[in-house]
This record gives sequence, C-alpha cells and structure tokens, in this order.
Amino acid sequence: MSLTYSTIAENLKFINDLKINSKKMKMLDVISMQSSNVASKLSVHNTVKTRTCTSCGKTVSPEEKPTIFLCPNCGQVEIVRCSKCKKQGVKYKCPVCGFEGP
Ligand SMILES: [Zn+2]
Ligand SMILES: [Zn+2]
Repeated sequence: MSLTYSTIAENLKFINDLKINSKKMKMLDVISMQSSNVASKLSVHNTVKTRTCTSCGKTVSPEEKPTIFLCPNCGQVEIVRCSKCKKQGVKYKCPVCGFEGP
C-alpha cells in the first residue's frame, strides 16, 4: 500500500519536475531574446553616433575622430570633417546657410 503510494508520488514529482524544467526553459528563452534585443538596440545606438563628412559625404565612425564643430556662420548645424578632408584641406559648405570654409 505504502509502496504503491510512494510510486505514484514519485511519478507526480517527476511530472512536476518536467513542468518546472520546461518553465525554466521558456524563461531562459525569454531572457536570451531580451538580451539579443538589447544588443540590437546598442548597435542602433552606435549607428546613430556615426556621422557623415560634410565635405565628401562619406560615413565617418567615431574611431576615425572626425573634426566636428558648429557652423561658424550660423551655428545651427554640425560640420563634420573626416581626417582625409582635413588633411587635404577640402572645403566644406554649410547645408543651412551655405557658408563655405576651409
Ligand atoms: Zn571627408
Ligand atoms: Zn551655417
């Protein structure tokens, strides 16, 4: 009698363990999905940080250390110059007021 009862109890425990394990698995899935979302958000944030060179129109990453300054004429827009344009002294033109400068 007691043996039969304990067998049923063991089986119930086994089923409960399975349920708990599958719950844990689902939670892990959710966590890994959330962390991948965070990673994609971070990469979006990084692309926002990259700028476009005002002179040549090329995308400049922050690692290239572009020269960034506000337009000396209107002060309304950021002028971005990549290291190449800075070296070659390529002119830039403010897209707001049309000011040209070295
Ligand atoms: Zn450039
Ligand atoms: Zn300007």
